[in-house]
Amino acid sequence: MNTKDHLQGLAPETLAIRAGVERSQFGEHSEALYLTSSFVFNNAAQAAARFGDQEEGNVYSRFTNPTVTVLQERLRALEGGEDCIATSSGMAAILSLCTAVLRAGDHIVASYGLFGSTRQLFLNQLSKFAIETTFVPTTDIAAYRAAIKPNTKLVFVETPSNPLTEIVDIAAVGAIAHEAGAVFAVDNSFCSPALQRPLDLGADVVVHSATKYLDGQGRVIGGAVVGPKKITEEVFKFLRNAGPTISPFNAWVVLKGLETLNIRLQAQSASALELARWLEAQPNIERVFYPGLPSHPQHELAMCQQKTGGAVVSFEVKGGREAAWKVVDSTRVISITGNLGDTKTTITHPATTTHGRITPEARAEAGITEGLLRVAVGLEAIEDIKADLARGLG
Ligand SMILES: *Cc1c(COP(=O)(O)O)cnc(C)c1O
Repeated sequence: MNTKDHLQGLAPETLAIRAGVERSQFGEHSEALYLTSSFVFNNAAQAAARFGDQEEGNVYSRFTNPTVTVLQERLRALEGGEDCIATSSGMAAILSLCTAVLRAGDHIVASYGLFGSTRQLFLNQLSKFAIETTFVPTTDIAAYRAAIKPNTKLVFVETPSNPLTEIVDIAAVGAIAHEAGAVFAVDNSFCSPALQRPLDLGADVVVHSATKYLDGQGRVIGGAVVGPKKITEEVFKFLRNAGPTISPFNAWVVLKGLETLNIRLQAQSASALELARWLEAQPNIERVFYPGLPSHPQHELAMCQQKTGGAVVSFEVKGGREAAWKVVDSTRVISITGNLGDTKTTITHPATTTHGRITPEARAEAGITEGLLRVAVGLEAIEDIKADLARGLG
């Protein structure tokens, strides 16, 4: 059965559970985990045909693997793209995309509010291959236009941004990229397709850290690129030759995670909104950054692009680093860790961790103050999370 046809018109909640399923001869109900590095052929002629791409089928798990294929088809369906390639990590997805659409002498326009490693990849690795990047203020549409050069081939953004939850107007930046003939890519790790579908809003390509909400339970590292075949075919060639393929086991874990993607993000978003409102009412809080709050400067845009404000809430406590560290160190339930997108609530002090390597000036420019904290809300009772934070805010 052609899964793409029989899933036409189904709701995302259904696709997250059903898309991509291919059963083996055993008729297993749950997705099978094919832990095998290679595949055998019936005879020499078939081996030759598989290697030569005259016959479809698996050869070696660096190229394709049936468990990975199910994950790719499910993510493709959820993002509404033509094709999907899963990768070993979110960073592998971003690098693979860059190799697919860029060559020496090309230029990237990227938003300032990018994941730290993405910024470092653009600045320190791609620059070695004569690919330059211009970073622009995340929400300044005119700045994207002004940064475009004749050799701009990729416009890359992340929305909402980390940790300040700034929103990039996907349609507006997409129009600028397309006018310039550049590929427009959106890192959708923060929202996941449960909350935001960038391809519907004008993006050409979506990249993911599946490590975050797609897995959703903090178990594995993974990534994906979703977009048109003419791009994913190049991504696939890079994976095939360079090797940052996702392991079948990790793909299987992410598939399991996807089954609860929608209910997790609904529940986590509801808790995050409640937490954001509560934080806003606390006397020792300077400011709360959450797209679901009417006080967020881009609340309306966020509510057009996203189903909810998401599960990440940042806030600035009065009293700088000392006060912020007191909140972190007073927690007993919340995990002190840099990760997010987990069922377990996490807390991070960006200025001394995720953003600790950038210069104080760059940090100030990015709005990462010493009092800023980021909480990625999990699935615990929100009363327990509030009480955990209240202890250090007193
Ligand atoms: C974590 C993250 C990445 C990198 O993903 P890995 O799976 O850790 O390689 C990229 N973008 C965003 C927005 C992230 O949060």
